[in-house]
Amino acid sequence: MNPSALSITDGMVVTFRYTMSLDDGEIVAGAAGPETITYLHGEGALLPGLEDALYGLKAGQRKAITLAPHEAYGELDEDAWELVPLSEFPPDLELEPGMALEIHDDEMDEIYEAYVAQISDEGVLLDFNHPLAGETLHFQIEVLDVRPATREELEHGHPHTGGHAH
Ligand code: ZN
Repeated sequence: MNPSALSITDGMVVTFRYTMSLDDGEIVAGAAGPETITYLHGEGALLPGLEDALYGLKAGQRKAITLAPHEAYGELDEDAWELVPLSEFPPDLELEPGMALEIHDDEMDEIYEAYVAQISDEGVLLDFNHPLAGETLHFQIEVLDVRPATREELEHGHPHTGGHAH
């Protein structure tokens, strides 16, 4: 490791490789090989707990990071399930358990993301929790690159590498 290498702090463009697994060992990201992310540090692009844990790391360093549910996708909300009659869904929609749906609430005029938990004659049980709510997440991180963001990247709040150009 190069001792003069830049450390991760706000305004740095960081590239890292990672895998993410659950308490039971199930790998939910990077199962087929680590995934790579490039992001601008300090802009809230990552889970807040993850971004905090990366402060001060340099290219070439590895770190194991564990995030409790409240630092990751939140606790499981037991009231966030709702049974919706089948007649409320478009007839040509092929519903499958685990499928993500956007539900439009006419009264609130808002769109919510929900997941199909169960399908029965009574209707479709929708889960409004994030699929990783209630999970403790275990990350294995390897920092590949740390560089200062350009002025344009700072203005946009995101990096311009990795196919992103405008
Ligand atoms: Zn941009």
